[in-house]
Amino acid sequence: MSGHGSGDLRLSSVTKSFESFTAVDDISLTIPQGSFFALLGPSGCGKTTTLRMVAGLEQPTIGTIHIGDADVTSLKPYQRNVNTVFQSYALFPHLNIIDNVAFGLRQRKDGDWKRKAQEALDLVELGHTAKKKPPQLSGGMQQRVALARALVNRPDVLLLDEPLGALDLKLRRQMQIELKRIQSEVGLTFIHVTHDQEEAMTMADTIAVMNGGRIEQLADPATLYEKPASTFVANFLGQSNLLPAEVVSEGGAAENGVVTVRTRDHDDIAVAAEHLPPGIRSVWVGVRPEKLRIGDAGRNRLRGVVTDASFTGVATQYLVRLPWGKELVVVQQNDGSGRLPVGENVTLSWDPGQEFILDQAQDADAG
Ligand code: ATP
Repeated sequence: MSGHGSGDLRLSSVTKSFESFTAVDDISLTIPQGSFFALLGPSGCGKTTTLRMVAGLEQPTIGTIHIGDADVTSLKPYQRNVNTVFQSYALFPHLNIIDNVAFGLRQRKDGDWKRKAQEALDLVELGHTAKKKPPQLSGGMQQRVALARALVNRPDVLLLDEPLGALDLKLRRQMQIELKRIQSEVGLTFIHVTHDQEEAMTMADTIAVMNGGRIEQLADPATLYEKPASTFVANFLGQSNLLPAEVVSEGGAAENGVVTVRTRDHDDIAVAAEHLPPGIRSVWVGVRPEKLRIGDAGRNRLRGVVTDASFTGVATQYLVRLPWGKELVVVQQNDGSGRLPVGENVTLSWDPGQEFILDQAQDADAG
């Protein structure tokens, strides 16, 4: 194992119980200094509790938290160099913007408060609002002021607890790009908590997908999407078509790099041997909606009937029902050739290698 960077954040076997309920269950992870990290998962999975332990607002029941070499596990929030931006930005309405940003610095009698606060405001592109009062700014601008206030003393770690949750969708998308720009400009560690998979994928270098207090998978966005480690991750990030199938190649032997599996309809499907863990018999063959093509251009083919066609702008999303009743989601780019009607019989195809494979023995319920 390589050594730890000087400002890496390390959670070691961290568990948090509230009486008999375990909200965070034995989590270990290292977040490299300067990375943009997301904790992603459904409501109640333990992401906020994890964040609160890093902030010092909760104490782990078991385990330790380090920033670099320093054990911060039992330090009070103000004793660790960690700031949090919440959804509610709680600015002082009677103070002007620069005084809001400089508030903490002035309390600590930092002689350089004016320059630092102005620099932080410039960073969030609100330098010109220094003399205004919070009620004169829009919600999105106030949120950026809160961000400047949290960045002004250059924390080791900045925690973002669903900070964009109160903003409308368009502003939210703008702020995602903006936050990413600010993070790369300041080079500080950002940890972002969200239940919005698109938001996590847009912003983070690395995502920990949480479920039931545990980390289901920790990876970069592309890996989570292309190679989900569980049906939970496959279904939580984007849409997945999961087909139950049995390995039929003799002893799972590969021919030209592919192995044959058989579906419930006795359709044979070729999958990349490298995607198939050795020794497994019952699998989920996962195919993302945009990998399926309508037509027989791909080597693997399934027949079905269109049960829904929804225009979504750049693409059309179809539901296609297979003979055994399973409905597959198919997304086709719109090329002006028109939409297939409901009731149309179609062939879906894709090529081996475009799938991901999960072991049914470890993951019986595909949801
Ligand atoms: P959300 O997005 O809804 O905030 P979350 O993933 O952030 O969800 P947490 O807030 O970490 O989840 O909560 C995880 C679980 O721990 C929930 O079931 C919650 O009810 C429980 N929990 C959190 N704080 C406490 C507490 N102080 N006392 C008892 N149970 C708690």
